[in-house]
Amino acid sequence: MEKITVFCLIAAMALLGWAGYGRWQAQAEEAYGEDTGNQYVALTFDDGPNPEYTLVLLDGLKERGVKASFFLLGKYVEENQELVRRMVEEGHLVGNHSFNHVILSKVPVEEAVAEIEKTNDAIKEVTGESPRYIRPPYGEWNDQLDERIDMEKVLWNVDPLDWKVLDREKVAGHIMTHVRNGSIILLHDSYPSTVEAAFEVIDTLKDQGYTFVTVDELLVD
Ligand SMILES: [Zn+2]
Repeated sequence: MEKITVFCLIAAMALLGWAGYGRWQAQAEEAYGEDTGNQYVALTFDDGPNPEYTLVLLDGLKERGVKASFFLLGKYVEENQELVRRMVEEGHLVGNHSFNHVILSKVPVEEAVAEIEKTNDAIKEVTGESPRYIRPPYGEWNDQLDERIDMEKVLWNVDPLDWKVLDREKVAGHIMTHVRNGSIILLHDSYPSTVEAAFEVIDTLKDQGYTFVTVDELLVD
């Protein structure tokens, strides 16, 4: 090929690439609502219900008019039925986080299925409805479970390791640094520092124009 032909080909490819990138960027912005100025974020709380701190959290969420998503451990549901009922009554999403917090991909598949089904049953017993959403502990899942379990998996993209740092300021700081439109924030309603950090983040993000939604609202295509 002559040099000029090669040059023209490269130039054409570069132009096409640029146009493609522009379209992609436009779609991404539309998907994230940046053209409308709306910003959405989901707070998610795992490992509850906790008789002490879930109660404080629910009161604070109610006071602030904020909806969250709770991924419950089946083993705590029966002894905290009133909290679970309140979650549903107050518009929060209730999901499954296994019965005993096992690594679902590491135990025999029958055991993993039983962990999930027992938890769905415990929640249904209280709320009248079987959860549609599951957050597998540690995010661990496998193909066998995909075949057996017809539920939507929910992972996360902001993780302040609240259970480890146990510090309101650090947890809130991590979230504020990493949050963006569409974030799913992972927290645990078993610690007072987490509940305080959640309230701080809610108050700040509301001032910045964020809307708090449940994960089902964020995962809609
Ligand atoms: Zn967990």
